Amino acid sequence: MAERADAVLLLPIVTASASIAFMTDWASLRHAYGSAADVPGLLAGALTEVDDRQVWDDLWSRLCHQGTVYSASYPALPALAGMASQLPAAGYVEPLALAAAIVASNDGPEDFRGVLRDYPGEIAALRDMAERNLDLADDDVEFVYALEALMSFEGASPWNRTLHVLADQEMTLECPRCGEQLTISFESMPPTTTALDDDLPITPVTPADAAQLYGAAARIQTLALNHGHGAVAKSVLDLSGSTICPACEVTVDLSATLGSADAASPGS
Ligand SMILES: [Zn+2]
Repeated sequence: MAERADAVLLLPIVTASASIAFMTDWASLRHAYGSAADVPGLLAGALTEVDDRQVWDDLWSRLCHQGTVYSASYPALPALAGMASQLPAAGYVEPLALAAAIVASNDGPEDFRGVLRDYPGEIAALRDMAERNLDLADDDVEFVYALEALMSFEGASPWNRTLHVLADQEMTLECPRCGEQLTISFESMPPTTTALDDDLPITPVTPADAAQLYGAAARIQTLALNHGHGAVAKSVLDLSGSTICPACEVTVDLSATLGSADAASPGS
């Protein structure tokens, strides 16, 4: 696209970002490395050079550092929503992904429910974009992240920050009875559970029955099927199923322990 057309297209967002930057006292806010005074400059940089990897890495590391968010993370949401709305629809849209990770975080000054309440217009717009993008995912991995973003804007915890374990093909959790650290691998069929103590046996995951899914799990499974991602739909059944702890042999309900699973948000 010609530089001039870019400038015209981005003008409303530049204006919006400028007014946000004007209204927000960024220097009084904090990100992962301290004062957030540099955030408006980084947002403006991302706006003009949307493919600049370094700018996005800087924004991710400051505003959503390994899943942790800060007081400066939430006021960035309007600018991120504005940017996402100006970019072509795609399976992965960087500002939308960062906004989703900020909203879903359970490690920051605000609960995700509070964030959804504080930014209703932005969240509604981001939700609609995330839903539209599901159809545009190139593969299962991109679809899992797109679906996790949608769950973020719909406030569907814990899927809003754990669904990507299906993209990672692995998650760790603690046995709720004996505390053994368990690793679930989704790479094998059926998925397997391994204890930290490798002398212990490897146990299989028993998937949930699709007919017994309800709420967000049922919605996620249906969306995966409707968008032609059968392998993801099957994995959602595994993630909603159960396994046997190799150490104490108790049955572990995976969906019940998901919230405490080691499932750090993407980015660093
Ligand atoms: Zn156990």
